[in-house]
Amino acid sequence: MEVICGKCNGTGIIYRHETCTVCGGTGKMNYGPCSNCNGTGSVYVQKTCDACHGTGKINATKKCPVCNGTGRIHHESGPVEWSTCSTCNGTGWI
Ligand SMILES: [Zn+2]
Ligand SMILES: [Zn+2]
Ligand SMILES: [Zn+2]
Repeated sequence: MEVICGKCNGTGIIYRHETCTVCGGTGKMNYGPCSNCNGTGSVYVQKTCDACHGTGKINATKKCPVCNGTGRIHHESGPVEWSTCSTCNGTGWI
């Protein structure tokens, strides 16, 4: 069946922070703050969703049992509280 991609919520686009390549993530240039990232060291980039290849829909057979269809895994302890479910690649479906 065809379902809305849970990773991008059907938009086909995902946003994520990436290290600014202009300043190498430092946020600084010789003359002051990096203008590309406004001194933050990271930039917000728009990418085509790799789970649905930008279509916003995926062919799924069933809800992911690992994350229970949420696409995210909750960690009680560890460096990150939430991570993308690797079983369904964040879509919530397999
Ligand atoms: Zn920068
Ligand atoms: Zn998607
Ligand atoms: Zn999952």
